[in-house]
Amino acid sequence: MLSSACPGWICYAEKTHGEYVLPYISTVKSPQQIMGSLVKDYLATKLNLTCNQIYHVTVMPCFDKKLEASRNDFFNNDYESREVDCVITSVEVDAMLNSEGISLNELPSEDLDEISTDMPLDFKLYSHSGSTSGGFSDHIFLHAAKELFGDTVSDIQYKTLRNQDIKEVILEKDGEVVLRFAIANGFRNIQNVIQKLKRGKSPYHFVEIMACPAGCANGGAQIRAVEESPKDLLKKVEELYYSMPVKEPGENPLVQKLYEDWLGGPDTDKAQQMLHTQYHAVQKVNNGLFIKW
Ligand code: SF4
Repeated sequence: MLSSACPGWICYAEKTHGEYVLPYISTVKSPQQIMGSLVKDYLATKLNLTCNQIYHVTVMPCFDKKLEASRNDFFNNDYESREVDCVITSVEVDAMLNSEGISLNELPSEDLDEISTDMPLDFKLYSHSGSTSGGFSDHIFLHAAKELFGDTVSDIQYKTLRNQDIKEVILEKDGEVVLRFAIANGFRNIQNVIQKLKRGKSPYHFVEIMACPAGCANGGAQIRAVEESPKDLLKKVEELYYSMPVKEPGENPLVQKLYEDWLGGPDTDKAQQMLHTQYHAVQKVNNGLFIKW
């Protein structure tokens, strides 16, 4: 299985590898679009609103998230409403503040707004273990090790392969490798993973694939380095990311309650509709001016 959270990778897979690779891509929506379902379905119902009465804006380190939000798969025809109405990137937020002469550093920090619903919402910002691109490989590895082999893995150690942007982790049982996962960032590594897959030589059960080298912390629309080198800025972003408190999503009572109250369980039609999506192979057109997202 290949991860599905990165629209840069999804666009590339749909345009370049079509039907062959798409069936291997997880049908789970990206975090941005799952938040779209939460806001436009769950939250709208709780607030007695229809989805088109809420304008949902996300801030992303990534220009491709705009393309993702504009996909027809995430458009509600009945209400003519998108799951995410507007995506603003980090560099755009920075430019908007600069144009007003405002420095984010000088503003006081504020708690997140609370919304009154009958759910025990926890209005704090949490992180997760694993990569700065969402930690998919770590989360699924831990879950698979426990569910399939009864192993509670406490420390995940990746081995770096050809370069810093391709690494793998294995689980061994009785001297045999039973799980082999990888994280592949950047198109050079993605191409190698796909070529192996096409030749039937991929050794992996799961690959977290992200189009940007070093993943989302180094996204194409992250704030640009001004005083320090891009490498030093990336290090700072990663340190900040990892400084947030970590909460294991599966153990969060709110997540469990959402599955019960909102979706009626993990395997229901509603869960399928709210949390999953589909991909479309794009036919190649020999016209440089024609770009279909
Ligand atoms: S890896 Fe890059 S293109 Fe992919 S979601 Fe992250 S920031 Fe966007």
